[in-house]
Amino acid sequence: MDGSALPGLEDRTGILRTVTTPEFAGMTFHEVLAKSVLNAVPGASRMPFSWTINPYRGCSHACTYCFARGTHTYLDLDGGADFDSQIVVKVNSVEILEKELRRGSWKHETVALGTNTDPYQRAEGRYQLMPGIIRALAASGTPMSILTKGTLIRRDIPLLVDAATQVPVDVQMSIAMYDDELQKAIEPGAPSTQARLDTVRALSDAGFPVTVFLMPIMPHLTDSLAAIDTALARIKNAGASGVIYGALHLRPGVKPWFLQWLSQTRPDLLSSYRTLYPGAAAEAPKVYRQWLAKRVRPLIRMHGLDRGSGGTGISSRGFRQEEVAQGRPGGAAATPPMPTFRADRTRRSALVGAPQPTPMLF
Ligand code: SF4
Repeated sequence: MDGSALPGLEDRTGILRTVTTPEFAGMTFHEVLAKSVLNAVPGASRMPFSWTINPYRGCSHACTYCFARGTHTYLDLDGGADFDSQIVVKVNSVEILEKELRRGSWKHETVALGTNTDPYQRAEGRYQLMPGIIRALAASGTPMSILTKGTLIRRDIPLLVDAATQVPVDVQMSIAMYDDELQKAIEPGAPSTQARLDTVRALSDAGFPVTVFLMPIMPHLTDSLAAIDTALARIKNAGASGVIYGALHLRPGVKPWFLQWLSQTRPDLLSSYRTLYPGAAAEAPKVYRQWLAKRVRPLIRMHGLDRGSGGTGISSRGFRQEEVAQGRPGGAAATPPMPTFRADRTRRSALVGAPQPTPMLF
């Protein structure tokens, strides 16, 4: 977690005003004055960037699996509906950023946006902070990397094109669900999959090599060969240059919310997920991740999506870097044996079976 990602809001006394408006029904915006917006990434995080900016806290895209949910509890808000609808807006982001970029000590290292919450979520339609942020970074000679699910980034394409004449600009779209019903259920506030693919096309047509984050891949829901193959075909067709994938990651701050959602929508999968992510475990078992790698990588190569963006290759919002593996020539070519996971009394998963058509989790 990018725990220091939201400085200047150590408590709620910095709130300027709270806004609700019919234009953004169901949303509450808490406008604050931040003391700082450039956040240093801890050296131990293994992220390929040193700085992040998060102009918003909370995210209306409302992904049930969002790793940042736990951070909302620092504000006396919950990581469920509050995270989706009570959005903290650092209204002075541009002004503070310009000041920070003028410091003599600033080394113009790459700044990543979208590492904690989405900079092109609904609030950006009202507050329009990103144009000023992009301009400030470009004018100061600072490379930038933007990861989003928001189609609103299309508004800023001319600005990004201009910025790219001054500094390296890396753009990534997060698109994990290719079943419309599942997408609406699991990312209820995010633009549709097709709208995001259209955005990839628009960015690609503007000259950006776009990397698509195919993550999280969800056991039993999106990890079949057919599902992955369909996803990659659509990504390729949209003009993306590369794919980064990763298995679902469930930190303690998000796990209860995710399991609550699962119990309501797919109760039949509840015990399987509890087996895969027991107790405080945030990652799927290594054997599952290895199985997934050997399933996905040959498909990435087959679809010609193994070139990546040539960009920063950032890890998406808390997923382990090891899971963020781009398809690489020379990787495993053969279809791997499919593991069977079985929960024993100690809740450990074990490879117990012969090859199966799909991993069995029970
Ligand atoms: S778009 Fe990203 S930050 Fe927003 S809810 Fe989804 S995963 Fe979280």
